[in-house]
Amino acid sequence: MKFGGTSVADLDRIRHVATLVAGEVKRGHQVAVVVSAMAGETNKLVAWTNDAANPPGGNGHGVANAREYDVVVAAGEQVTAGLLAVTLNAMGVPARSWLGWQIPMKTSSVHGAARIEGVDAAAMKKSMAAGEVAVVAGFQGVADGERISTLGRGGSDTSAVAVAAGLGAERCDIYTDVDGVYTTDPRIVPKARRLPMIAFEEMLEMASLGAKVLQTRSVEIAMLHRVPVRVLSTFTPEAGGTLLCDEEKIVEKKPVTGIAYSRDEAKITLHKIPDRPGIASAIFGPLAEAGVNVDMIVQNVSEDGTTDLTFTVTRGELKRALGAIQTHADTIRFRDITHDAAVAKVSIIGIGMRAHPGVAQTMFKTLSDKGINIQVISTSEIKVSVLIEEEYVELAVRALHTAYELDAA
Ligand code: MG
Repeated sequence: MKFGGTSVADLDRIRHVATLVAGEVKRGHQVAVVVSAMAGETNKLVAWTNDAANPPGGNGHGVANAREYDVVVAAGEQVTAGLLAVTLNAMGVPARSWLGWQIPMKTSSVHGAARIEGVDAAAMKKSMAAGEVAVVAGFQGVADGERISTLGRGGSDTSAVAVAAGLGAERCDIYTDVDGVYTTDPRIVPKARRLPMIAFEEMLEMASLGAKVLQTRSVEIAMLHRVPVRVLSTFTPEAGGTLLCDEEKIVEKKPVTGIAYSRDEAKITLHKIPDRPGIASAIFGPLAEAGVNVDMIVQNVSEDGTTDLTFTVTRGELKRALGAIQTHADTIRFRDITHDAAVAKVSIIGIGMRAHPGVAQTMFKTLSDKGINIQVISTSEIKVSVLIEEEYVELAVRALHTAYELDAA
């Protein structure tokens, strides 16, 4: 079982969580529980760390040592893991807390965004077999056998799936503040529907294309280890939630299962670059070296031996990307460089797309009927993404939701 920040936001909610855990214990299950920090807590710890790295009178560009950053931001989960163990014990349910290094949850040493390398669940298994609920601090692990690491924001989902895989759990239930995965964001489309099931592959695309229900990495681990994951609400668990499963289990495959969007996009265009072998490498090499993740790319046909090339990055990386290109202006030899951060990406996702022709065309027609211009397109076997002006995101998502017959009756 995994509980997010809003589910453990105060002692009353932690007591409610404890009753859900006790219920599973009563049903005869051995239970490991992974908790997030109390809602808002991690943001506070991040802000403190930044402030500490920037004493008054400085230039404000100070960055905390990544290892110490992790020591601070991992603290929120230590508090909730301890509190939940105390609460369970007070209810007569034997429980003990486990910090990342105690499990141990081994990670890479990329502090702040560490990847789980393995969960040695032997000690936890022994304690659970002896009747103790294992209460695990999410989001944190141990790097190089000695330093506290964290898994990136939203990382407790990944902790939970990794613990489930390590234990060989029957199931991983992710309790959160929504009652499952929806066809799209219900705040934008009130007619969005909860999906009773979604294929791992689809969820992976949904998460990486902007749906914020689960950390993308958690879906990768679930898919790799075939961990059945259920997403359900802490407050209305009886609603049923959404089951992540193998695609063979999904009988009715509509062409489109869900629609995701992301506003965290920025577009860069290089005008009039020479159209010669090696030009893409001259552009994307420096970007990779600068640690910039490039997402969509489009290159025009050349007319006069030159061409225009457009690509997207996250807004947070825009400055770094522009800097990397400018530094290599001599080798790239563009006439002009322009950028635009008022763009957004809208994606349709569905494994049914493989079998249905014309799915992309419905998307293009729907957007054109609304007068929305498509700037960049990218596709895979089970998704189509388009880049549009940010102000049309909501309109686009609503129109597409209707066009693919996803609206609730
Ligand atoms: Mg979360």
